[in-house]
Amino acid sequence: MADHPRFGPAGIPPLFKILGAELADVPKLLREEGLDAFEYQAVRWGQTPQLKREDAEALGAEAKKNDVWLSVHGSYYVNLCGKREVVDASKRRLIAGATAAKWMNASILVFHLGFYGRMEKSYAFRSCVDALKDVIETLKRMSIKNVQLGPETMGRVFQVGTLDEILAICEEVEQTQPVIDWSHLYARQQGRLRRINDFRMVVEEVERRLGTEAARNMHCHFSRIEYTPKGERRHHVLDEKRYGPEFETLAEVIAEFRMRPVIICETPLLDVDARKMRVIFQSILKKRENAAES
Ligand SMILES: [Zn+2]
Repeated sequence: MADHPRFGPAGIPPLFKILGAELADVPKLLREEGLDAFEYQAVRWGQTPQLKREDAEALGAEAKKNDVWLSVHGSYYVNLCGKREVVDASKRRLIAGATAAKWMNASILVFHLGFYGRMEKSYAFRSCVDALKDVIETLKRMSIKNVQLGPETMGRVFQVGTLDEILAICEEVEQTQPVIDWSHLYARQQGRLRRINDFRMVVEEVERRLGTEAARNMHCHFSRIEYTPKGERRHHVLDEKRYGPEFETLAEVIAEFRMRPVIICETPLLDVDARKMRVIFQSILKKRENAAES
């Protein structure tokens, strides 16, 4: 569980790549930027880890040394409510991601549950729960006990992953933790995440169903986002103010509830915007402190 609010990018910032940085150099470079979280992108992985164990361990060691919180984003090619072959392959992809997460000592494997397809929604949800229980059984046999599986709230109406579904999964399946992607919630709800109360209601719902610790230790994704009637269209940078949601409002709620979330920035500007979010959060903390003193 994170000890304080942490900020970092979803993947290696482009500038680091231009500088010729290796994966193991990333934590130190993030630390120099004042960031303290990193989500490794295993999003195009197949059914086995596509990173050498020694490289994963080197990343883990550097992250520890530089106090950077690690998470892994698992394969996009996961669908836990498709045909049997698809579900079986998806389970192996989750296990591959969790294996690499263990090598790195990462706390959570973030993943997408899948698509309803022609399935009835409640049936699709059941299929996800059953598949995840199997995955957790396998992880236990493999002694992978310290990596949480993190189903993410999804931005499109045909994807499994409303807030309610994510919380229901976490209520039913052990070794899981909700991943709250605020921009996906915003897009799926057609922008109905504006007032501070809208944000509070999400945190309170997590607290009501999974407990205070789960709410305070939320693993989050944040970006500005464009949407259509079907939901998510495209992520946008923090300065594009015509797209929501507003990070300021989330930051207010984080301060108010004394949360210590990990906030992964998914805007196209990754580390640059993660730093902006951190600055916004700190200015809100300061403002609250000043208000409390006067
Ligand atoms: Zn995701």
